[in-house]
Amino acid sequence: QAKLRGKESYQIFDRQMHLEMFNRLILENDLQRAIEQQEFILYYQPIIDLQTNKLAGFEALVRWKHPERGMVSPAEFIPSMETTGLIVPVGMLVFKQACQQLRAWHLMGWTEITISINLSVRQFACSTLLADIDRILEETAVNPANLKLEITESAIMDNAETAIALTKELRSRQIQISIDDFGTGYSSLGYLHRFPVDSLKIDRSFVSQIQSEGRNYHVVDTIIALSNQLGLAVIAEGIETKEQLEWLQKVQCQYGQGYFFNRPLPASEIEKIYLQP
Ligand code: C2E
Ligand code: MG
Ligand code: MG
Ligand code: MG
Repeated sequence: QAKLRGKESYQIFDRQMHLEMFNRLILENDLQRAIEQQEFILYYQPIIDLQTNKLAGFEALVRWKHPERGMVSPAEFIPSMETTGLIVPVGMLVFKQACQQLRAWHLMGWTEITISINLSVRQFACSTLLADIDRILEETAVNPANLKLEITESAIMDNAETAIALTKELRSRQIQISIDDFGTGYSSLGYLHRFPVDSLKIDRSFVSQIQSEGRNYHVVDTIIALSNQLGLAVIAEGIETKEQLEWLQKVQCQYGQGYFFNRPLPASEIEKIYLQP
């Protein structure tokens, strides 16, 4: 009896594994097709100067416009693109699309805004990254000073030496660098002064705990103090309530983004909101 049950559960496990593998193969195949069909588009989330309430720039966030599934969020396909390496070509498509959009907005009179683009650890490890970036900068004729690249803390810690060298190269081109999801990497802060960045983004998980009884006030506080000390700009992610906004303003957090202001939106919607006379 026990043996039989053991065998059954083994079979269920086996079937489950097959199903997962099957789904993964389907997804990878689907992603490959999506690249060819150019189904990846960018949404833009406004980043606001919290002291003046003025628009400071946008974060570009990729979406997959799937012919049957509709708009697919990056949480569902970025991990798979990371393991397969597809993030490298898709990341460059994203970079190019964001540069083209920045150029278009620049020509519409938006000369001050920046666009932040997320960079995967796999792109960071790619030997052609700088050459690809240089080519796209030349093709799209954007001012690199209006571009920001977001890299996660863990991507930096994965290979600190490469990260430092690459960051220096990018900054010599006037491209700004942000550390994304800051505070979640559990890394020593000692590396920060060795790492030439422009800003820190406080992870949403800390911002969401700012409530009347918030437990993590001190984490946010500490990151802001640290930024000030190092002369870095600081951006709070995931501001959802007025309460969170007011608290962040009180502690002099410079920039913020979140559903309280806007969700990520297609470029046309952004223009309707911000570029209407
Ligand atoms: P991230 O870079 O930390 O981006 C912020 C995420 O928080 C976005 O999710 C955004 O929609 C979401 N968000 C912003 N404000 C709020 C809020 O007030 N409440 C809540 N609940 N969420 C908020 P999204 O667009 O689903 O992207 C998820 C992650 O996928 C990004 O996290 C980033 O790590 C990755 N990602 C997105 N686009 C790209 C890309 O083009 N390249 C790479 N390598 N990664 C990307
Ligand atoms: Mg980001
Ligand atoms: Mg982030
Ligand atoms: Mg985050």
